[in-house]
Amino acid sequence: AGPARSMIRPALREAVKRREFFYEYQPIVTVADSRITGYEALARWRHAGGIVPPSDFIWIAEQSGAMADIQTNGLIGWAAAVAATSESITFAVNWSPLQLARSAEIAGFINLTARLGVPATRIVIEITEESLLQPSAATLANVGHLKDAGFAIALDDFGTGCCNLAYLKDLPVDRLKIDRSFVRALPYSAKSRAIVEAVIELAHRLHIEVVAEGVENEQQLTQLAAMHCDYVQGYLLGRPSHHAQISAQCAAALLPAAEPLQ
Ligand code: C2E
Ligand code: CA
Ligand code: CA
Repeated sequence: AGPARSMIRPALREAVKRREFFYEYQPIVTVADSRITGYEALARWRHAGGIVPPSDFIWIAEQSGAMADIQTNGLIGWAAAVAATSESITFAVNWSPLQLARSAEIAGFINLTARLGVPATRIVIEITEESLLQPSAATLANVGHLKDAGFAIALDDFGTGCCNLAYLKDLPVDRLKIDRSFVRALPYSAKSRAIVEAVIELAHRLHIEVVAEGVENEQQLTQLAAMHCDYVQGYLLGRPSHHAQISAQCAAALLPAAEPLQ
């Protein structure tokens, strides 16, 4: 732990109090009829005049326990967003490996969503393959608790973490998100096309829906449609942003998310 790390911890605690964290929402779109089926909530930290990307603060926020507070504040905003959007719209939230191992955080999340009147069926929990590399008994039990509570489970960044296919068999996975490294290569790599096509087919045979991440151009979209991919997400469909309706509702919520940065 260098000095940067020892300084960032108290800074994070202060930042949570000052409501410097907020969420941007990126649409997830159906391939068949270009409908928004839901949004993925992506954490942002407005700090020292700029936006700190999640890759720079998530890991330390997790370790210091601040991630739970960030999520709690976010959830209070989403509760309003859930209420303001149509019943078929889902909100995907990212869970880190460390969070997933903490039974108290899982129980807290399940309680809070119930208290806020957010139907579990409107929330998708995204867990990375990394969480499942050497999962503790607690981690596996927690995935089960979330599923039992009615949340959908998505396997994020699929294909990057030495995926153990046993988890597709043993875990209650509803959705699989193909990592954008495969999607990026679709137009020029026959191998990537073969992998993506096979993963989609495998998922469908297991009754798992597939989201392709990082779709940036029409060519990728056309290829994914030909492979019967269910959903797409990426800059071509929409960047993460403050959805007008969602941010208006957040502003009206009890503990508002930070104001959107222009
Ligand atoms: P992720 O879950 O894979 O999220 C998708 C990332 O891809 C986001 O980066 C998004 O902005 C980016 N992206 C979306 N479409 C495109 C595209 O077309 N092209 C490219 N090049 N990128 C695209 P972001 O927001 O920087 O988040 C990075 C990672 O941080 C996320 O990856 C996720 O693992 C983590 N993260 C974000 N928010 C949270 C959170 O609330 N909790 C936890 N535990 N992790 C989070
Ligand atoms: Ca994700
Ligand atoms: Ca991902």
